[in-house]
Amino acid sequence: MKLSEIFKSGKKTISFEIFPPKPNVPLETLFESIEGFKKLSPDFISVTYGAGGSQRGRTAEIASRIKNQHQIETMSHLTCVGHSVEEIDAILADMKKDGIENILALRGDPPIDQPDFDFAKGAFKYANELIAHIRKTGDFCIAAAAYPEGHIDCKRLSEDRLHLKNKVDAGVDFLVTQLFFDNRIYFDFVEKCAQIGINCPIIPGVMPIFSSRIKNMTAKSGCSIPAKLVLMLDKYEHNPDDLRKAGEENAGIMIRELLDGGAPGVHLYTMNKLDSTIEIMKIAGLLK
Ligand SMILES: Cc1cc2nc3c(=O)[nH]c(=O)nc-3n(C[C@H](O)[C@H](O)[C@H](O)COP(=O)(O)OP(=O)(O)OC[C@H]3O[C@@H](n4cnc5c(N)ncnc54)[C@H](O)[C@@H]3O)c2cc1C
Repeated sequence: MKLSEIFKSGKKTISFEIFPPKPNVPLETLFESIEGFKKLSPDFISVTYGAGGSQRGRTAEIASRIKNQHQIETMSHLTCVGHSVEEIDAILADMKKDGIENILALRGDPPIDQPDFDFAKGAFKYANELIAHIRKTGDFCIAAAAYPEGHIDCKRLSEDRLHLKNKVDAGVDFLVTQLFFDNRIYFDFVEKCAQIGINCPIIPGVMPIFSSRIKNMTAKSGCSIPAKLVLMLDKYEHNPDDLRKAGEENAGIMIRELLDGGAPGVHLYTMNKLDSTIEIMKIAGLLK
């Protein structure tokens, strides 16, 4: 099913992001928890696309199995960095064959060992070009990434939002945001997007704080951590279990407030952690 149909019905979606395990880890370790995720009744599960070569094929396999063996709707992430047009077309044809109807279309980041990587030399320089290509090529529901605090490479927030508008105009059905830790940032972003004519659903992406590694993640992505969460990180610096519990509680409260405040759904970055996802759903009041 195309996810755009769910959004059209006005239903608020609850969805999860998972990532393929490392190449030396069997896929079954992930699939052991998929039925557990299914019990939480997600509207869909999205599968990330590995930045480096070997993980990429796993995205398609996982998404296909989630959809065809576990009967959960799925969305495959797809980055165009480093891919030729022919490769993208082959991936799209495989997705079609596997019944994948939803794609989160992304540019992707430069390879880790090539910080000066020149996107202009590739077949697609920005995500909007990939989106236009997918729209022209096949009958998919297309999502794209949005950055409430601005994408880290863009010098001005207003300019980043105009790039987002280009992306949406290229054929996006809905957006999923990068992590943020203050819901006011999300609601303010949605208002500013509406002012420039971005009217598709903007699904907030919620990243729970599972450990102090969140500091590196936010540093890389340019997201801010509010002072109260800095204090929380300090308080539980030497107590990882309590930090995880406090992080779960914070994520559950964020989700509740986002849904109550009018968000059209929530996409939870599960980091493949089923037990924490169950806790967060309980705290958000989404589980009996
Ligand atoms: C919800 C979500 C899921 C993600 N999943 C994955 C994943 O599975 N795998 C992965 O590798 N990465 C993933 N990422 C990370 C993403 O690949 C990076 O953030 C990447 O740097 C940007 O991708 P994009 O599609 O947003 O790029 P774009 O929309 O192309 O934007 C990239 C930058 O270019 C700028 N820009 C856009 N158009 C123009 C223009 N015409 N002129 C000048 N500048 C322009 C933008 O302002 C921005 O700074 C995800 C991010 C999010 C938010």
